[in-house]
Amino acid sequence: ETEVEEYRQRREITVEGRDVPKPVKSFRDVGFPDYVMQEIIKAGFVEPTAIQAQGWPMALKGRDLIGIAETGSGKTLAYLLPAIVHVNAQPILAPGDGPIVLVLAPTRELAVQIQQESAKFGASSRIKNTCIYGGVPKGPQVRDLQKGVEIVIATPGRLIDMLESHHTNLRRVTYLVLDEADRMLDMGFEPQIRKIISQVTIGSADLKANHAIRQHVDIVSESQKYNKLVKLLEDIMDG
Ligand code: ADP
Ligand code: MG
Repeated sequence: ETEVEEYRQRREITVEGRDVPKPVKSFRDVGFPDYVMQEIIKAGFVEPTAIQAQGWPMALKGRDLIGIAETGSGKTLAYLLPAIVHVNAQPILAPGDGPIVLVLAPTRELAVQIQQESAKFGASSRIKNTCIYGGVPKGPQVRDLQKGVEIVIATPGRLIDMLESHHTNLRRVTYLVLDEADRMLDMGFEPQIRKIISQVTIGSADLKANHAIRQHVDIVSESQKYNKLVKLLEDIMDG
């Protein structure tokens, strides 16, 4: 108990919520499968960052979470590595299936960065991913979606376009991430985010019976004005 508190204090981790899992002290403590550990070793990382140390045990348990940490603190892998583990625990995609993991991001640049990280760390387990963003022709994105991808990283507008034209669906999404959620709200994406999330059927009776489900919501914020965001995320998590 006090050991955990000391560790959190030393790493400047504060937690809110019930029965928050203990943070991990090393990569080995997380219990990641070998295909993830290999990539961590290859990357030359020495220890988990604070948000990873506290976030991984939560995400791997299937807990919803809002994570806040400064720029450059490893938030991408804080949500991506558990997402990769989650995908590998699911039945393989059938023809016509949409993604299992959906990451929403505010900009094309960020979406592309996330995809690169996802491709790198998902490579050894052959997870397929694609990026969906506006301002470019739809053809190549449609073709990627039609091939079937486990992880989709998308900006809200183009994703809605793809959903409305039935190029993908969110019926299999059981792991949802809002990266830079505060920035997405600042950019006025709240209606689009709500629209997208209304199609995620995590709460359906069918899915509730399945223990493999997780709904993971990540916020990444450096700003203090996140009350609106917390409200949005609570709505999402309750719905
Ligand atoms: P942000 O928190 O701003 O989203 P990123 O996820 O982009 O930060 O991470 C910033 C950099 O830190 C990336 O190059 C990433 O590969 C690296 N990184 C992530 N986790 C670790 C770690 N445990 N140790 C060292 N570097 C890491
Ligand atoms: Mg980030």
